[in-house]
Amino acid sequence: MSVECGAKARTNFNKPCRQPAMANGRCRLHGGKSTGPRTEKGRKRMKEANTKHGLYSAEMIQARRHARDLIRETREINRGV
Ligand SMILES: [Zn+2]
Repeated sequence: MSVECGAKARTNFNKPCRQPAMANGRCRLHGGKSTGPRTEKGRKRMKEANTKHGLYSAEMIQARRHARDLIRETREINRGV
């Protein structure tokens, strides 16, 4: 883990923040004391805010895999394997 905070900072021409990082990797100005969302509601809110379309979520990957398997099995049945 880096010693610098590295948060996206708007000052200094959008360079990363160079304050010394606290235990969680961020400086005191960028959530260093924060332990993150704790309530179920808060965790859900953060997840939604960071998800754009969910196409690569474990659930969607699994659904695509299942669909592929069904197609392959159907082909094999039709081929008479
Ligand atoms: Zn910072």
